[in-house]
Amino acid sequence: MSDAPHPYGFDTLQVHAGAKPDPATGARQTPIYQTTAYVFRDADHAAALFNLQEVGFIYSRLTNPTVAALQERIAALEGGVGAVATSSGHAAQILALFPLMGPGDNIVSSRRLYGGTITQFTHTIRRFGWEARFADTEDLAALEAACDGRTKAIFCESICNPGGYVTDIPALAEIARRVGVPLIVDNTTATPYLCNPIAMGATLVIHSTTKYLSGNGSSMGGVVVDSGQFDWSASDRFPSLSQPEPAYHGLKFHETFGPLAYVLHGHAIGLRDLGMCQSPMNAWITLQGIETLSLRMDKHVANAKAVAEWLEADPRVSAVTWPGLASSPWHARAQALYPKGAGALFTFGVKGGYEACVKLVDSVEIFSHVANLGDTRSLIIHPASTTHRQLDPEQQVAAGAAPDMVRLSIGIESAADLIADLDQALAAATA
Ligand SMILES: *Cc1c(COP(=O)(O)O)cnc(C)c1O
Repeated sequence: MSDAPHPYGFDTLQVHAGAKPDPATGARQTPIYQTTAYVFRDADHAAALFNLQEVGFIYSRLTNPTVAALQERIAALEGGVGAVATSSGHAAQILALFPLMGPGDNIVSSRRLYGGTITQFTHTIRRFGWEARFADTEDLAALEAACDGRTKAIFCESICNPGGYVTDIPALAEIARRVGVPLIVDNTTATPYLCNPIAMGATLVIHSTTKYLSGNGSSMGGVVVDSGQFDWSASDRFPSLSQPEPAYHGLKFHETFGPLAYVLHGHAIGLRDLGMCQSPMNAWITLQGIETLSLRMDKHVANAKAVAEWLEADPRVSAVTWPGLASSPWHARAQALYPKGAGALFTFGVKGGYEACVKLVDSVEIFSHVANLGDTRSLIIHPASTTHRQLDPEQQVAAGAAPDMVRLSIGIESAADLIADLDQALAAATA
């Protein structure tokens, strides 16, 4: 699926993109620019920076060299023109919508989403006057019918946490194109190594870099990547990008910056006024993680396959939702869209229901019982009693988080040890 504009392969870009030896010292590793502000050469330089006539650094809420290296690297891996890093994945979702939305506007969103995103979209964004209309991404006609003149984006996840659902990104991109709005894909669980939404027609890609990109469960972060391919001036749907923007002395972002309009808006207005910047330290840790992304993802996927196949053959288990299994309803789509593997995050059903699931998470030894995913360590959680607890039972089932389901985020340990741990924990849970 990748017709990346870059001349280098993924493995080269994950190590080198965005990072040059430090011009001041020659330091080969990207320095952690732990600074708030940057000295202007003179008053003219300061004025040019504030007018966005020259690219440079003013204040670390807007831009920071270490964070810029991270943005450039992720943009290169996703095949975008640029990116805006944020303090968390949830912040990336707000920042991604901010240039597009005003009070009374809506997005049409897949209902198969990370539980926290459902909550953010159902309740919190309403306080900005924004509405999320949830639609079934398997009913494309209904999804398209949910869009109207105030729709500003279609939103989905690539491989859905937690239910092992694989979204048909090319089909959603086609609907977004017809409606005249960007498709935003949360690519957190697949990563740019397994999935390139932009190559499949998405306009914007977001990540919680907290997960596989940083990779070892140490650092919060998020990012919004723009493909640079959307014509914001094709209609008057996106006035903040196509019309004079009063929040930046009447600047017309799209006319002035062309394909970089959305990314510059994200820095100049989004980060400036909403303030959810990523710290240089977290950006640096995430850069280290990304250097080994492809190696880790291959191992995550191989381990997920081994564990999923073992679980599926076990009589104590009622279902396994890894989309790489032939039994998954999304198997064919996963093969077509994700030839390198269908991720390492899935659920399985435990005979014995809610009680057995709770016992299981209390009995594991190598797996950690945490509300996170995409760690080198294998993780386990019971969504119905934790991450999806705020949802009603119908929403839980729709999100793939039914009461008898346990979610695994498979790490990079020895597969045999992971299987042995689940074996003993299942024995305790179903005794
Ligand atoms: C974790 C996650 C988020 C939220 O990211 P944070 O970094 O925790 O704010 C959003 N979407 C998906 C798919 C996630 O897994």
